[in-house]
Amino acid sequence: MPKLKKNKNNERLTKFRSPRGMYDILPIDQQYWDRIETAAKNLARSYNFHRIEPPILEDADLFRKTIGEESDVVEKEMYTLKTKGGDVLALRPEYTASNMRAYLQNSLSRIGQPQKLYNFGPVFRHDRPQLGRLREFWQIGFEIIGGTNDPIFDAQIILIFKSLLDELKIKNTVLKINSVGCRVCRPIYKKQLQNFYKNHEKELCEDCLRRLKTNPLRLLDCKNESCVKLKDKAPNFLDKLCVTCSAHFKEVLEYLDELKISYVLDNQLVRGLDYYSRTVFEIFAEGKESEIGALPGGGRYDYLMEFLGGHTTPAVGGACGVERLIAVMKAKEIIPAIKALKRVFVAHAGEMAKKKAFVLMKSLETEGIAISEALSKESLKAQLKAADKEGVPLALILGQKEIYESSVILRDMRTGLQESISLDRIVEEVKKRWK
Ligand code: AMP
Repeated sequence: MPKLKKNKNNERLTKFRSPRGMYDILPIDQQYWDRIETAAKNLARSYNFHRIEPPILEDADLFRKTIGEESDVVEKEMYTLKTKGGDVLALRPEYTASNMRAYLQNSLSRIGQPQKLYNFGPVFRHDRPQLGRLREFWQIGFEIIGGTNDPIFDAQIILIFKSLLDELKIKNTVLKINSVGCRVCRPIYKKQLQNFYKNHEKELCEDCLRRLKTNPLRLLDCKNESCVKLKDKAPNFLDKLCVTCSAHFKEVLEYLDELKISYVLDNQLVRGLDYYSRTVFEIFAEGKESEIGALPGGGRYDYLMEFLGGHTTPAVGGACGVERLIAVMKAKEIIPAIKALKRVFVAHAGEMAKKKAFVLMKSLETEGIAISEALSKESLKAQLKAADKEGVPLALILGQKEIYESSVILRDMRTGLQESISLDRIVEEVKKRWK
């Protein structure tokens, strides 16, 4: 039998590991997760966004029809499965398509327009695991669906993500922004792009040769060295936008100016998905941390609802990867401040006292008092040592005598001073000490 590896504790590992590109979110990292979720929730509350959580599995066609067959997400990265009933479902690779489906299916437009929605949950992409690229990762999404396609909403989405980064103390970020036009100007631009690249076919990678026919905008997205070199010479979409798209983009930028949010115009930013129209954006950390990839990214998708068979519905939104935020926070040594939770340690001496201590814990918890214990240790000395190690300031001790007297010993762990308190006054006494 092959020798099994050992972990840091010298415990033998089993053959079971988390799947490649998928990780355990460990207790030690919860402070980051809590901080990020709280920041997102607070922003949602301030700007009146409401949480929506669609199912993790959806009809695979929902993503094919909206994100596009040609996109990497659908073509290479979607986890699909066939159910026993014969349905082909996919683990969601993103939220937008599901949100739009849910908006349509649940007639959310009736509640009011636009609908401001947010998400916080896992998505799945069978990508090659590398820096900033996991196969299961969490996204925070903010979307404004319905109403009018007012550029102020594009700016509001960008503002919210920018505020999220500020709130997490991720400073000096770089916002890249572009417009990918509409049904009027995009086909003309695509044609110009095709003409340009046709003269350089020999320099293109295999994927781009295919994209040249199917989705020429994606040529601007390619990371292949020889294709990258060509991008700078390619026609610039910003010069070719129709009057309406140009006015829309100008207004978005004016709102950003008004908010004093700086940006970089990036005419090569097209994003990988088919459903975008007009504004697209990505925000990066500064310096070395930018290598992790975009933190938030998003844009406008006014035609997506039509792909689903609904009426044209203006929509704009974006998503940010939580693991990337945490990686940047760690690299920049941003440690989330955690409010020390006040706790009392409950200790027992003897079997009868253990039962009473168990009941006491329940009454404390009901009163909102957090507890610590070392129930697996029977010796009182060992229990108090554990309390010391945890740094809990107050301990409540129950022994035989206390049971008969209906009292509890309250011990100040810092001074070692102890006093006997009647059981029916203990909650009040603990709260008084905390004040
Ligand atoms: P996208 O829909 O690809 O624009 O993704 C939105 C955001 O999700 C990105 O800007 C990243 O922050 C995050 N993200 C995308 N793909 C991955 C991945 N494979 N691993 C971790 N985070 C990702």
